Amino acid sequence: MTGLYGIIGHPLAHSLSPLVHNWGFSRFGIDSRYEAWDTPPEGLAAFMDLLRQTPIQGLSVTIPHKTPVMGYADAVTDLGREVGAVNTLYWRGQVLWAENTDVEGFCRPLIEAADIPDTALVLGAGGAARAAVVGLKRLGLTRIGVTGRTPEKAAALAWEFELDSVGWEARAGFLAGLLVNATPMGMSGRYEALSPFPAEALRAGQVVYDLVYNPRVTRFVAEATAAGARIVSGLDMFLYQAIEQFRLWTGRVLPVEELRPLLEKALYGAA
Ligand code: NAP
Repeated sequence: MTGLYGIIGHPLAHSLSPLVHNWGFSRFGIDSRYEAWDTPPEGLAAFMDLLRQTPIQGLSVTIPHKTPVMGYADAVTDLGREVGAVNTLYWRGQVLWAENTDVEGFCRPLIEAADIPDTALVLGAGGAARAAVVGLKRLGLTRIGVTGRTPEKAAALAWEFELDSVGWEARAGFLAGLLVNATPMGMSGRYEALSPFPAEALRAGQVVYDLVYNPRVTRFVAEATAAGARIVSGLDMFLYQAIEQFRLWTGRVLPVEELRPLLEKALYGAA
């Protein structure tokens, strides 16, 4: 029987996940398909019933379900609990597990960039910031600051993970070897003209990790490049979280060098 996988979230219009996973199934000759199921918050309970009856063999989970879906799994990994959010459901026997592969997705591109700095500032205090913070802690950074436009949210995140809480207006003064953009600032559309960090405070040798990957070169990345910073790609974060999902479902590792051009073509129109 053809295996069934998919993603739930709301809205889901621009998800690249079906492209990645359907490519993976055909790449490895696996008789399965991956669909996008736009599911508003009030539809989550019914969807999770359906998942067990159908059954659906694996599920990607995105906004707004990453935290609520944990209550429908049989077990949540330690990492999922630490982040407080999951993006992947998979079966081991009769047990439906919930995992967070965003942390692995976040860490892998940094590890590959080598020379990870000791200090970091995470710009933003939402879900992606949580995954980034957990990843940075696992990578052993000695000092991590977090800042956001809503001070209470940044302060709460800082308190929960024992980080430095940095005022939004004071962010340029926090000396960090690594800057992580975990806000939508710079994203194509209404945020495109924005950057989360003042250009004049960027320094040569800094590492800049922009989780926003559309457009290919955000304002933050352009200004950081001009300042002589090293860039880590948010598209690679997306790629590696998807690769880890696929591995949990199938045991196969999608080749990143084949996958990256596929996504670049879909996103930017050229490899
Ligand atoms: P989220 O939970 O909604 O959090 C967004 C954060 O950005 C919040 O701290 C929010 O502040 C802040 N923010 C929103 N608009 C802002 C603005 N105009 N100026 C300053 N701060 C602003 O979203 P998320 O899931 O963390 O995602 C954040 C971004 O990361 C997304 O836009 C996405 O592009 C990117 N992302 C990338 C990947 C990847 O694989 N590369 C994965 C996940 C996310 P308030 O709370 O005050 O609104």
